[in-house]
Amino acid sequence: MRRALDHDQEEEGMSSTQQDQRGAGAEERATDFDAVVVGAGFSGLYMLHRLRNEMGLTARVFEEGDGVGGTWYWNRYPGARSDSDSYIYSYSFDKELWQEWEWSERYPGQEEIRGYLEHVADRYDLRRDIQLSTRVIGATFDEEKGVWEVSTDAGDTVTARFFIAAVGALSAATRPDIPGRDAFEGEWYHTGLWPQEGVDFTGKTVGIIGTGATGIQAIPLIAEQAEHLTVFQRTANYAIPARNGPVDPEVKKARKEDYEGIWERVRNSFAGHELWFIERGALEDSPEQREREYRARWDRGGFGLWVGNYQDIFANKEANDTISEWMRQRIAERVDDPETAEKLTPRDHAFGTKRVPLETNYYEAFNRDNVELVDVKETPIEEITPTGLRTEHAEYEFDALVFATGFDAMTGPLNRIDIRGRGGRLLREKWAEGPRTYLGLTSAGFPNLFFITGPGSPSVLTNMPVSIEQHVEFVSKIVGDMRERGAETIEPTQRAEDEWSGHVQELAHATLFPESATWYMGANIPGKPRVFMPYLGGAGPYREKCDEIAKNDYEGFVLNP
Ligand code: NAP
Repeated sequence: MRRALDHDQEEEGMSSTQQDQRGAGAEERATDFDAVVVGAGFSGLYMLHRLRNEMGLTARVFEEGDGVGGTWYWNRYPGARSDSDSYIYSYSFDKELWQEWEWSERYPGQEEIRGYLEHVADRYDLRRDIQLSTRVIGATFDEEKGVWEVSTDAGDTVTARFFIAAVGALSAATRPDIPGRDAFEGEWYHTGLWPQEGVDFTGKTVGIIGTGATGIQAIPLIAEQAEHLTVFQRTANYAIPARNGPVDPEVKKARKEDYEGIWERVRNSFAGHELWFIERGALEDSPEQREREYRARWDRGGFGLWVGNYQDIFANKEANDTISEWMRQRIAERVDDPETAEKLTPRDHAFGTKRVPLETNYYEAFNRDNVELVDVKETPIEEITPTGLRTEHAEYEFDALVFATGFDAMTGPLNRIDIRGRGGRLLREKWAEGPRTYLGLTSAGFPNLFFITGPGSPSVLTNMPVSIEQHVEFVSKIVGDMRERGAETIEPTQRAEDEWSGHVQELAHATLFPESATWYMGANIPGKPRVFMPYLGGAGPYREKCDEIAKNDYEGFVLNP
């Protein structure tokens, strides 16, 4: 089945459905379900487990794919792999699950993660409440009844007390609106909607647009297979070596013995990893000391150089220059042709203010005879032609064209659904100038609607499963507390939402992040408001904030009655 791109709403594939799969006893209830959850990825699966298995509520999950896995169901491009270490790119809610599951490498690959989520769906008997191949198209809050009416492209209309959007932050794939975009007559693919059966590029000439985290993973592998690969790069990135491989059995064993310690540290950390900032400013150290710090993190591989670096590199340009320049030198060392090396060298943004990709043989791929790099900032793409692509200076032909062009992030997956709150107000209209949320979880005028990893949450700036578990557990707590006190609805006050949205911006604008054209800022989508979307306050402090709010009788929320 093929999922619709953002701009291709008419695409085929939303076929089979199971018409009436309502939970047992649904007929006697005021609503069909206590909750409708959208999406069966990391978030939706855990949400269902909490609501149904732990709290005894009825829930229906609608999932667009014909299997569970969310991001890891759709993103099957060559090299797709998490950039978080596998031992923490996992659920922690069940010690046994965590102890029993064996990851084969330092970073888990797409197939392995999808297998893990399939296993979770079976282990907690989740499948019977998941309706696959079904896309939620609308959700309207009925103010009189205090319930959500949810409709799907498969013709279902169901009601629920709670509507929980576990739609993922990076799930609305986008293809840029380049003139002639649909004129290409060869095969084309978007990395986020990769064919389930895979693609064999052997003997083919291939073009790829995009050098974000996805392109950087895919390029070295496509280069190995294709006869020729042309990479169209708009912005050069600073990529850090992943250094993937099997994990030392002794390390694995020690980790298994330290379940409590690891998760205590990870949950309370800034970014959901076992990484901590160096508690000094970069300029307080001598150049030699900085070199040692950078080199140690580079040699270890992974996010240490990004989220475990000097504490001021994100706020102080001079401090940042030291690592940005250090990274540029590493690129020059690895790329043979100085002209290609220069094109691959980022000079337009500060290290770390765009999502830093991890790489395996990325820079070396450009030393191959069959790989060509085209800088499309220098020579912009003018149009896509039936046989390839034309830039200002040249014409390129290929058999296959790959769009590694990313997503309408955070708001995109929510705005694709007609979500109507009080007074019939559309969420995407409310958010026309940028998302407005309280805690990234709720929005004023939309009672009993929860976002998992929504805009205004730390989510995408952290190791996702850690934030997802926190969000799901907090939403579950709210729902449980409401039941206990007999409350029918919860929603944030306008004031709480304004203050939170202001706080999100204030934190972001105290850093260098907003100066870079990133999807964090909505800058990858023409016409999207330039608003920094994720919460930069850190996962640990955010967790504390949520706990404090619950303790203070849900400060900032209105509960009815
Ligand atoms: P992305 O970071 O948005 O990168 C998209 C790429 O396409 C960029 O290089 C962008 O250039 C380019 N592009 C977009 N429109 C273009 C146009 N009209 N002409 C030329 N180039 C164009 O998307 P992504 O690489 O799919 O990654 C998105 C996010 O997903 C990541 O930041 C990360 O959070 C997540 N992700 C995670 C992993 C992992 O954990 N391993 C892997 C992949 C993705 P500009 O930079 O100039 O806009």
